[in-house]
Amino acid sequence: MAAPKVAVVGAGVIGLSTALCITETCPSCSVTVLSDQFSPNTTSDVAAGMLIPHTYPGTPIHVQKQWFKETFTYLSAISNSAEASEAGIHLVSGWQIFKNMPKEELPFWWDIVLGFRPMSAAELQKFPQHRFGQAFMTLKCDCPPYLLWLEKRLKSTGVQMYIRKVSDLWELHSEYNIVVNCAGIGAHQLVGDKKLFPIRGQVLKVHAPWVKNFIRDGDGLTYIYPGIHRVTLGGTREKENWSLSPDPGTTKEIFDRCCSLEPSLQAAQDIEVKVGLRPSRQCVRLQREVLSQGGVKLLVVHNYGHGAGGFSVHRGTAKEAAHLVGECIAALQGTSSRAKL
Ligand code: FAD
Repeated sequence: MAAPKVAVVGAGVIGLSTALCITETCPSCSVTVLSDQFSPNTTSDVAAGMLIPHTYPGTPIHVQKQWFKETFTYLSAISNSAEASEAGIHLVSGWQIFKNMPKEELPFWWDIVLGFRPMSAAELQKFPQHRFGQAFMTLKCDCPPYLLWLEKRLKSTGVQMYIRKVSDLWELHSEYNIVVNCAGIGAHQLVGDKKLFPIRGQVLKVHAPWVKNFIRDGDGLTYIYPGIHRVTLGGTREKENWSLSPDPGTTKEIFDRCCSLEPSLQAAQDIEVKVGLRPSRQCVRLQREVLSQGGVKLLVVHNYGHGAGGFSVHRGTAKEAAHLVGECIAALQGTSSRAKL
């Protein structure tokens, strides 16, 4: 058969990294990215981009650990290359702190981040409201530069990218052999997934170049994540809230919460407010599906529903999605050789 044509729907971190993995594992494919929004207008642009995994209750821990490990290894190599600054990837040290002892003293990812250890009593003095903490070094993506870096790599391998809203996956069946659905929260409408819901997050991006260490309250609500140029202050987690409008009361509340952990932030300048909808589900939907209409078949691979942890696992899930695309190609080749017999 001719080179299989693959359409990837979505240009957030999941769509772009999945398209890249497909070009790496199936170099004979012709890959096209179709998306109604590209950077800087995706949820992925709003994210802090810290590599601290979120837990998906519906996915086995060993699978989540593998996704995180693959992502950490991939981004470590970039951070250790001449491209680190252009790609917006860097190492950052800091603390995750708890008011009460966490249920699990060792999170499943403790041996993937670097130098994980309990905080000393002297370190905890900085946080008088907190009784326990974990110190470690992890990676951070500055999201818009990383998305642009992924786009640049895709263009250099010949991937086409078009602005296009897809209303129904079937509209692609005459142009493409395989469709990969990386629509994030857009999959709620695109494939009618009722298990997918938004968790609204509001964050502030501020100028405070003296803040060098990350601080994350273990409840996941308050965090300070220094990037290469800006510090991200968070946040909120509002289930089923679809509003993309910033709320000024919430902005003040986030700022106050962050200043209580890092008082020097009172002098932060140039405060920008961003809102994003985390595409949340019990588990990431990483699955092959064969759609069928009047005897016509459309091969689909889904890769969406990464909730609060898309950056932390994107490379691992992209590799798995590319593997599923490989299985679809094998099925197509089987069909075409049987047709010739
Ligand atoms: P998106 O970035 O939303 O991309 C979806 C793409 O699909 C978009 O390009 C969209 O235009 C396109 N699309 C949708 N529907 C259609 C359609 N019908 N037709 C065509 N195109 C369509 N994760 C971490 O790991 N670490 C963090 O520190 C972190 N911080 C976060 C902070 C906040 C405030 C938020 C909101 C999220 C955070 N996340 C974090 C989570 C992370 O942002 C998401 O998991 C990730 O961005 C999801 O990526 P995605 O590509 O699936 O979705």
